[in-house]
Amino acid sequence: MMFKPSSGRKKESPVWSHFEYDGSLDKSRCLITIAEKPCGQFLLGKNTTNLRNHLKSKHKEVFAALVIAESQAKRPQDVTTTPTVQAKLKVCLTQAQKSAVIR
Ligand SMILES: [Zn+2]
Repeated sequence: MMFKPSSGRKKESPVWSHFEYDGSLDKSRCLITIAEKPCGQFLLGKNTTNLRNHLKSKHKEVFAALVIAESQAKRPQDVTTTPTVQAKLKVCLTQAQKSAVIR
């Protein structure tokens, strides 16, 4: 786990091994080939959640492998936390801190 990205790009999610982002179009292209046919589907933006959803619905096997890759390369920066999740985490932390103070 000692690799350092040479550039400051934030393409750290393993999902990016299956997509190529085109900044001029603000679209991400699927690089997966099925039976030697490139999928080539464009997804708007570079939201990894969208990309994952595409894999989940169109490339189930790739998605399964991706989930494994992600669980192996788990790093805090890679976790896409929604505000809701963050809020919940905060609540949990506050409660944990409170109980730590009380006990
Ligand atoms: Zn695809």
